[in-house]
Amino acid sequence: MNRGRTFIVSGPSGVGKSTVLNALLARRQNVFFSVSATTRAARAGEEDGVHYRFLDVDTFRQWIARDEFLEYAEYVGNFYGTPKRYVDAAMDQGQDVILDIEIQGAIQVKSKRPETVSIFVAPPSWSELERRLTERGTDSPEKIQKRLLRAKVEFQTAHTYNYFVINDNVENAVRELDAIMTAEHCKPQERMEIITGP
Ligand code: 5GP
Repeated sequence: MNRGRTFIVSGPSGVGKSTVLNALLARRQNVFFSVSATTRAARAGEEDGVHYRFLDVDTFRQWIARDEFLEYAEYVGNFYGTPKRYVDAAMDQGQDVILDIEIQGAIQVKSKRPETVSIFVAPPSWSELERRLTERGTDSPEKIQKRLLRAKVEFQTAHTYNYFVINDNVENAVRELDAIMTAEHCKPQERMEIITGP
């Protein structure tokens, strides 16, 4: 059994990553979604342990001190981090792991584990992104402006990712992500047992 691969999926807040990733998880077998820890408040409908592990700042700092995170970053005033142990356990069981993380975290994971595949999910346009963020209704106008500004900065790093997917339509975006994951498993280094024989 091959060890699973890790896939970073980054993209501006409001781009629709959660919708796309949920549809991807429903379609593909053997995929583990890494639940991040965060110090931000839960939004309506978000459950602890399902969408995020919601921690207070002191607990988050303790996890940092105990080296629990594969990566962590501050984003628009809150901490977010990927607990390492679940990622490693899933990969050991042959599962692919999805990390829905922003650029600073993506850089940390890539530098520690260069074989990680990174995918940037972009909105079809800035006006569409603003519309989606406003319609979501979860952030104040000031927070929305901060997220938009941050999205523009992140967009300038999109060329450093291995793949670039535009979420103009959920079905198309899911199909492209699915294809990327399948293609990564068709690399010769993933099939060395067959190539080199028994
Ligand atoms: P939101 O507050 O909208 O759920 O997430 C804000 C941003 O934080 C998103 O870009 C999301 O990808 C990112 N994020 C979520 N979890 C993590 C994490 O564990 N690490 C890092 N670096 N970013 C994360």
